[in-house]
Amino acid sequence: MKNYDIAIIGAGPAGMTAAIYACRAGKSAALFEKNYPGGQMVNAHIVDNYPAEGEIGGFDLAQKMFEQTMAAGAEFINEEVTDISPLADGVRIVTARGEYAAAAAVIATGTVRSRLNIPGEDRLDGRGVSWCATCDGALYKGKDVAIVGGGNSALSEAIYLAALCKSVHIIHRRNAYRAEASLVEKLRNTPNIVEHLECVPEAIEGGESVSGITLKKGEEMLTLPVEGVFVAIGGKPDQKLLAGMEKDAGGYVKTDGEMRTSLPRVFAAGDNISKQVRQIVTACSDGAIAALSASAL
Ligand SMILES: Cc1cc2nc3c(=O)[nH]c(=O)nc-3n(C[C@H](O)[C@H](O)[C@H](O)COP(=O)(O)OP(=O)(O)OC[C@H]3O[C@@H](n4cnc5c(N)ncnc54)[C@H](O)[C@@H]3O)c2cc1C
Repeated sequence: MKNYDIAIIGAGPAGMTAAIYACRAGKSAALFEKNYPGGQMVNAHIVDNYPAEGEIGGFDLAQKMFEQTMAAGAEFINEEVTDISPLADGVRIVTARGEYAAAAAVIATGTVRSRLNIPGEDRLDGRGVSWCATCDGALYKGKDVAIVGGGNSALSEAIYLAALCKSVHIIHRRNAYRAEASLVEKLRNTPNIVEHLECVPEAIEGGESVSGITLKKGEEMLTLPVEGVFVAIGGKPDQKLLAGMEKDAGGYVKTDGEMRTSLPRVFAAGDNISKQVRQIVTACSDGAIAALSASAL
């Protein structure tokens, strides 16, 4: 079984920063990732709140972070971690391809996007229903689309789609967005975005592909004719690797100030922990603290 000082699961900003700090502390660091490096960052069309970068594409920022992580000396292992269990003096990491041991683990697995759980969503997934405007937006050039959500991601995706699509209907169940004021202003200054506040999506319509979305506003029902529905209602931590850890009511891992979880030698960092602000910069901060705490064991 290959042995490392620190095993880091997830190569988003939290995991990559943890790997950089672990290597700089003189530790061997294995960075496990089931997809490609970057995490949710790669879905951000533009990031303009990461210090010193000004305005940068999410994909480019992810690439830069990954290059720095590799240059620091981390080992990138492109495998999905399926289990973590305690060893006498460390942790065992299991993937589909093998088993690894480490003195400590940092779980930086982020979140998976929440679903609407309404009729049509599953059936039309990939046939007009999408979870990523940056990935799929170009398919809807010149068309009418809808986006569901009211946070930073939903608003920035709506603004991105508006540059490609004929019209973008943004649907939010509350009467105000939970997004930065600058994004709300930008949204309201984009003429082909139509707002539907205090509206609850009831069904996604269509035969072979999406033809509309039905909303409920008060007692009234309304169907918007759209060819694409983007779902951007946030995410929840994937519980697969979090068994046995103390969590809050939302399923986010409880950590102390050193990013320790309730399990020995297991630390957590980034969007999967219980905290107020889920952003790239806070994920990086958590990752740095977790790696230094793990290095001090
Ligand atoms: C569309 C969009 C736009 C955004 N825009 C901004 C922005 O402008 N500014 C900003 O600061 N933030 C933005 N965010 C939020 C930001 O991207 C997240 O807060 C941040 O990426 C969280 O980092 P993380 O490392 O905790 O998790 P993630 O980025 O979610 O990374 C987790 C990684 O872990 C991997 N993983 C999960 N499970 C396993 C497993 N079992 N084995 C191996 N690998 C696994 C995943 O594949 C993923 O790569 C945006 C998010 C979205 C969706």
